[in-house]
Amino acid sequence: MLKLLKTLLRAGEPTVKYPFAPLAVCAGFRGKPQLEPEQCIACGACTCACPANALTMETHPEENSRTWQLFLGRCIYCGRCEEVCPTRAIYLTQEFELAVTQKSDLYVRATFRLQHCRHCGLPFAPEKSVALAAALLIHSQQAPQLADMLHAQLSLCPACRRREALEHHDSLNIHYFLEKQL
Ligand code: SF4
Ligand code: SF4
Repeated sequence: MLKLLKTLLRAGEPTVKYPFAPLAVCAGFRGKPQLEPEQCIACGACTCACPANALTMETHPEENSRTWQLFLGRCIYCGRCEEVCPTRAIYLTQEFELAVTQKSDLYVRATFRLQHCRHCGLPFAPEKSVALAAALLIHSQQAPQLADMLHAQLSLCPACRRREALEHHDSLNIHYFLEKQL
């Protein structure tokens, strides 16, 4: 008997007190993905990388919006979204208690405004993506005096930017080219 008691004391407490006490998880544990909407630029990289199709993105030009959505019911906690995000807007937390009473609680959504082309007026990219591109270009060129010009260029849709670039090409008869091509 004494020997048994000694063995029990040496072994310590083999079980955990969860759920009556918080359960510590190991470092690198992959739990619920968390989005920081202020950091997100709605680029869609995470939605392309998500192997379980838990992340989706829908663009609604008529509402001038792009909606990012996470459906936790499909998430496999692989962490690909965190790996590919260029702005660290999404990361996996250590949260693992994800039971809900309503399916709608498994959805996380964020909505972003679209940038309209200053020439043709069509929406072509999320406003925050365009703003980040401009900021990075200004920073990389160390030329704050070019800020207005870069903002003006980046607020054109790809088609209008191409057209404007060709129109300013002196050696080309642009009107002839445009008539033939467009
Ligand atoms: S952790 Fe994996 S499955 Fe879950 S949202 Fe991110 S990429 Fe998709
Ligand atoms: S990759 Fe990052 S910045 Fe791009 S949509 Fe996903 S969370 Fe937002």
